[in-house]
Amino acid sequence: MELFDTHAHLCDERYGEDIDEVIARARDAGVSRILLASAEMSDSEAAIRMASEKNGDVELFCSVGVHPHSASDYDDQSHELLSGWISDREKNRIVALGEIGLDYHYDLSPRDVQKAVFIRQFELACREEIPVIIHEREASADMLAILTDFGKRGLLSETPGVFHCYSGSAQTAQILVRMGFLLGFDGPVTFRNNKKAWEVLSSIPLDRILIETDCPYLTPEPFRGKRNEPAYITYILVKIADYLGKSPEEMARITTGNARRLFRI
Ligand SMILES: [Zn+2]
Repeated sequence: MELFDTHAHLCDERYGEDIDEVIARARDAGVSRILLASAEMSDSEAAIRMASEKNGDVELFCSVGVHPHSASDYDDQSHELLSGWISDREKNRIVALGEIGLDYHYDLSPRDVQKAVFIRQFELACREEIPVIIHEREASADMLAILTDFGKRGLLSETPGVFHCYSGSAQTAQILVRMGFLLGFDGPVTFRNNKKAWEVLSSIPLDRILIETDCPYLTPEPFRGKRNEPAYITYILVKIADYLGKSPEEMARITTGNARRLFRI
């Protein structure tokens, strides 16, 4: 089995000491590729470094970008730095811009700033023809309005990116799928009574499903409450495969194929 953890925050300080063991356990679990996701300028830089220093048996790639929580910190200098990294993306092993988006649950940056910073980074991604990793929480109306506007301006590519850790409705999922997006699924699918996730999963085409751990967060059962890591992606895979009536091997082939198509690997 070849698995691809499409969203892992391995530059988080919780992996400082045992990062090599974490990557080795991922390899032993069948994970052959990991996308190091970023949320700040500082961890974007760290992800670029880690993606080349630790690239080995498990292939490492990264994304760069600023999360809505930190939108207030995003300035012209950040934008220039981000553009520079992306224009040299092959050397930097960058395959996506993100995570970017809107988060009205925590509102850690003012909403108008979140919107402006999301639009600015998304425009850069469109210009550079690189997929985006979108984080959206309790902001679907504003998110859809922005995406519709991008569509009208002719900026959206056929496959613009992924809605990471998708937690919205099946109805919104349909709209996103029509726009060309993929949806990422994480540990919460292993929690009891996650009816919403099943509704979404059974209503979208198989070629739109990505699996991701979002580690160190969102640890799946049976390790809920502990630090998450890429090796645990198998629990997410098995649960989704089981639900959709597929074998884990087939589900692995489908989701890894989807990830490689989206990130052009
Ligand atoms: Zn994340």
